Amino acid sequence: MDLGLSEEQAAVRRLAEDFVDREIAPHVVAWDRAEEVDRSIVKKLGEVGFLGLTLDEEYGGSGGDHLAYCLVTEELGRGDSSVRGIVSVSLGLVSKTIQAYGSEEQKRAWLPRLAAGDALGCFGLTEPGTGSDAGNLATRAVRDGDTYVINGSKMFITNGTWADVVLLFARSTDAPGHKGVSAFLVPTDTPGLTRRTIHGKLGLRGQATAELVLEDVRVPASAMLGPEGKGFSIAMSALAKGRMSVAAGCVGIAQAALDAAVGYAGEREQFGRSIASYQLVQELISDIAVDVDAARLLTWRVADLIDRGEDFATAASKAKLYASEAAVRCANNALQVFGGYGYIDEYPVGKLLRDARVMTLYEGTSQIQKLIIGRALTGVSAF
Ligand SMILES: Cc1cc2nc3c(=O)[nH]c(=O)nc-3n(C[C@H](O)[C@H](O)[C@H](O)COP(=O)(O)OP(=O)(O)OC[C@H]3O[C@@H](n4cnc5c(N)ncnc54)[C@H](O)[C@@H]3O)c2cc1C
Repeated sequence: MDLGLSEEQAAVRRLAEDFVDREIAPHVVAWDRAEEVDRSIVKKLGEVGFLGLTLDEEYGGSGGDHLAYCLVTEELGRGDSSVRGIVSVSLGLVSKTIQAYGSEEQKRAWLPRLAAGDALGCFGLTEPGTGSDAGNLATRAVRDGDTYVINGSKMFITNGTWADVVLLFARSTDAPGHKGVSAFLVPTDTPGLTRRTIHGKLGLRGQATAELVLEDVRVPASAMLGPEGKGFSIAMSALAKGRMSVAAGCVGIAQAALDAAVGYAGEREQFGRSIASYQLVQELISDIAVDVDAARLLTWRVADLIDRGEDFATAASKAKLYASEAAVRCANNALQVFGGYGYIDEYPVGKLLRDARVMTLYEGTSQIQKLIIGRALTGVSAF
């Protein structure tokens, strides 16, 4: 098995490293304190090709395989998870889903703008009453002639206040549970759609997370993405691939924690010696390093399976489960290496821990990943 990078993949990684060091790293603390990433980053992400990775060139995509996509999301995660999330959602959950399930008209209408960073997408699945149990969502889309009228609300929507289009999941038939759910592409300037920014998040403070409320939002029937009643399976297939980019972002967090811990341990002296010379500090650092490697290998395996056209869903759940839990452990261990300074936001590790914490919650909690893995192994569904 060859774990080396091709020339193209190595070049994409260098491009991403340079982008993070130039466009993100200098602003991370200020964006976190201001609770807002500078919006110009979206256009910059488009210009450098990161919002078009793996998309077909005829729709404005920049090509690349899934390992290249992993490398970019890993680097963005190293820089700022708030920025990484912009890409994971707009490209990973929205554009790639439009490419996979959209009509020619939908692809031409949205993909070139999304890939260029001239438009941003968000993914509207979670509701106030349904998170893990997304198949029981309550938002309704009622057919009225050649339109649908949508009513309901969506909770915790990444990119929500910035997005130009929401990939929205709503119940359009009376079929029970997830069988009645369909997917729609709803422009966010459609009358009746309002958005409220959610403030006070523990981490990802720079990210525009929102609640969406839909009151008699009317869209043409052609706004439906994919067949009627297939919305839930479209959402699940989007999330299965999405878990790879969350896992890659977590590898980035873990790598940043390792870099910070090694750097600080080498500079800080106590009892007349570098703290790096103490075995208990080395234990903290080596635990981080092993987690970084294990999380990265699990994540790259998912990319490899996708690129070879093989079944990847269970591997993606394993990678997301391991990498997200590892990111929390790594950031926490790094904070320990920093001592009291780790608790202050002038130093990077506190933010890494706050940002890491959500990774075990969204795109399927750790418990839900275990149920998915357990179902694949036993053939019995626990939910
Ligand atoms: C910052 C942020 C950004 C987000 N972005 C998006 C987005 O862009 N789009 C979107 O649609 N959603 C988004 N989400 C929502 C996220 O996906 C949900 O929060 C997540 O799926 C969990 O749902 P919940 O919060 O309702 O928790 P619940 O489902 O209520 O779960 C609560 C607890 O119960 C456990 N639990 C639930 N069911 C079971 C079970 N069957 N067995 C064992 N344990 C169980 C869970 O693991 C968890 O520990 C975001 C959330 C956050 C915090």
